[in-house]
Amino acid sequence: MTTNQGRADWRESGACAQADPDLFFPISSAGRSLGQIAKAKAICAGCPVRRRCLDFALEHDLMYGIWGGSTPLDRQAWQRERRRERLQSRVPPGREPQAYPQPPGDRNSRTAC
Ligand code: SF4
Repeated sequence: MTTNQGRADWRESGACAQADPDLFFPISSAGRSLGQIAKAKAICAGCPVRRRCLDFALEHDLMYGIWGGSTPLDRQAWQRERRRERLQSRVPPGREPQAYPQPPGDRNSRTAC
């Protein structure tokens, strides 16, 4: 079995295999697409490969479509939260996280005001 065959296997087990594919690729995240998104998420809720599908979308930074019951905006929010947690875990207790660490070469390059 090749990797591609393995990947195809879990997709074929998805609850969306028999659903309208358009449901999973709404054209926007507002208006009439909200009903489409809700229907897709309801199908995902009962899917036996939901976790694997979500992991696949997160690992591959998929920017379009409903995967594992998540929209692209859901996944972006999770990724932001994950990055923030990683950043905070590197900072010693009692210190605020630095959003933009100072590059090593710039430490002594400041001029007096
Ligand atoms: S989680 Fe949703 S998109 Fe993923 S395979 Fe299942 S039904 Fe399809």
